[in-house]
Amino acid sequence: MRLLETLLDLVLPQRCAGCGARASSLCHPCAARLAAAAHRVWPSPVRGLPTPWTVATYEGPVRAVIVAHKERGRLALARPLGLALAKSIRAALNTGPPDDGAGVGGSQRGVEGVGVPIVVPVPSSAEAVRERGHDATRRMVAVAVREIRRTGVRAVRADALRHRRRVADQAGLSAAARTVNLVGAFEVVARVAGRRVVVADDVITSGATLAEAARALRAAGADVVGVATVAATPRRW
Ligand SMILES: [Zn+2]
Repeated sequence: MRLLETLLDLVLPQRCAGCGARASSLCHPCAARLAAAAHRVWPSPVRGLPTPWTVATYEGPVRAVIVAHKERGRLALARPLGLALAKSIRAALNTGPPDDGAGVGGSQRGVEGVGVPIVVPVPSSAEAVRERGHDATRRMVAVAVREIRRTGVRAVRADALRHRRRVADQAGLSAAARTVNLVGAFEVVARVAGRRVVVADDVITSGATLAEAARALRAAGADVVGVATVAATPRRW
């Protein structure tokens, strides 16, 4: 079914991925939802979650755009989604102490530009990447970091996290159960000690995944200054 939908996307006239209006890729109203300023997400009950930043609410057209990019291979959407993510990342970087560029321990290797803040995407599972044919979050983060650098803010992307083990599907679990499900889910595979880090993902739901990602990075010595997403689910508590 997914293949059929993807093929139809290719052969039918382009429609807005958000609302289905006749438009190439995204209509103006849907694009405007992703062009809003970054703001702090609802206060989260998840312990250890660094300040979360987002641009949009994960519902309606925004949800449709994110799903079309992730699940239906509408890869052109990586650009508007990545530009939205860039705003969240920039907001997260602006809240911490300024980067003096002096670096942290000259012996660190593995991530370009010692002292430059690192943007770490939440990794997708290998199965999800295989099924979708691409890694949506990595693709968006790549666009976001290019945009941030273009505007003169120093940052690099590093795929510093990897899934350590298989985790149960988070859907349908309570916030507390999500946290338990995720403990030890990620391992750090790049040198992040002493570096300012922003963790990035497409959507924040309970915050459990981002909190666990931040926990793993902090355990490896990173200074996680915030988490950045494109959209947040409507507050449920
Ligand atoms: Zn639209």
